[in-house]
Amino acid sequence: MTHRVLVTGGAGFIGSHFVRSMLDGRYAGFEDAEITVLDLLTYAGNPANLPLDHPRLTLVKGDICDEELVAGLLPGHRDVVHFAAESHVDRSLLGPRAFVRTNVLGTQTLLDAALRAGVETFVHISTDEVYGSIETGSWDEAEPLLPNSPYAASKASADLLARSYWRTHGLDVRITRCSNNYGPRQHPEKLIPLFTTNLLSGLDVPLYGTGRQSREWLHVDDHCRAVHLVLATGRAGEIYNVGGGDELTNREITGLLLSLCGADASRIRPVADRKGHDLRYATDDTKIRTELGYRPLTSFAAGLRETVAWYRAHSEWWRPLKG
Ligand code: NAD
Repeated sequence: MTHRVLVTGGAGFIGSHFVRSMLDGRYAGFEDAEITVLDLLTYAGNPANLPLDHPRLTLVKGDICDEELVAGLLPGHRDVVHFAAESHVDRSLLGPRAFVRTNVLGTQTLLDAALRAGVETFVHISTDEVYGSIETGSWDEAEPLLPNSPYAASKASADLLARSYWRTHGLDVRITRCSNNYGPRQHPEKLIPLFTTNLLSGLDVPLYGTGRQSREWLHVDDHCRAVHLVLATGRAGEIYNVGGGDELTNREITGLLLSLCGADASRIRPVADRKGHDLRYATDDTKIRTELGYRPLTSFAAGLRETVAWYRAHSEWWRPLKG
């Protein structure tokens, strides 16, 4: 029987990397899988991120909140990998409703349809931001959720709904909580591509507040390999943190980008800090490393160099997206 996988948000940054990797046969057990991408193609979704003429790929333009569409589409799919979301924290401060709609209602709509369709495995992609800010040490999966932005709160709500479908209905739901991703094809509203494309365009870079906010950075390819491991070998009802291990402040990242783009500190334009800006996220990902044998393969130095080189070589991809 044909093995079908539904990937939501597969035209976005991380989802499209996952789809391309699976179609390239890089994920054991999924070499012949047929993929349906369900994506609304919002400002963040780009069909050009996908190999649209690939014989094992179907792109369906549609909304994960559309009950009828989702209920009609899910039967026949063995697995669901759910990336679709409103993903930009700054936008969630200005227009939180879209975040609640897509991230909460959309996730519930998918869970319900997956249950009815007899989907075997549902991987819900979440974020380390659901834990809130931590001054020292790192969170493991048992840490209480204390999200601080409307984005993080909507993702935390979706996590709880996802878990409830496992607990109540026995749907095999697995949740990943990943740190900040970077890599090719990330929308230029996010820090690394924003600063890179600004510098490549001769513009200044707007650094929030003191620049002391600290994040763990993970290459998108490592994140997607972790998602595959959870899908293929994870356990039902479990949560897996996926950390990068490379912890840097925004100021440190800015310094690296300035040097990779041949610019100096005069290009930094300090701007008022984001409201409620979390100072630090750090995850303990011992569980996925010991249980599933995961480890990131791309060092931040090499990954950032390659990422900047990709943006330098692909201005046709990002120029139309810059406001
Ligand atoms: P993205 O914004 O690049 O892509 C989101 C995709 O979802 C887009 O293709 C968009 O068109 C689609 N989408 C949005 N609303 C939709 C709807 N109602 N119906 C169908 N499709 C819709 O996001 P990303 O950075 O690729 O993130 C993917 C997932 O990973 C998200 O769930 C995000 O919360 C999570 N995550 C991201 C990061 C990161 O650093 N980018 C870190 C941890 C977790």
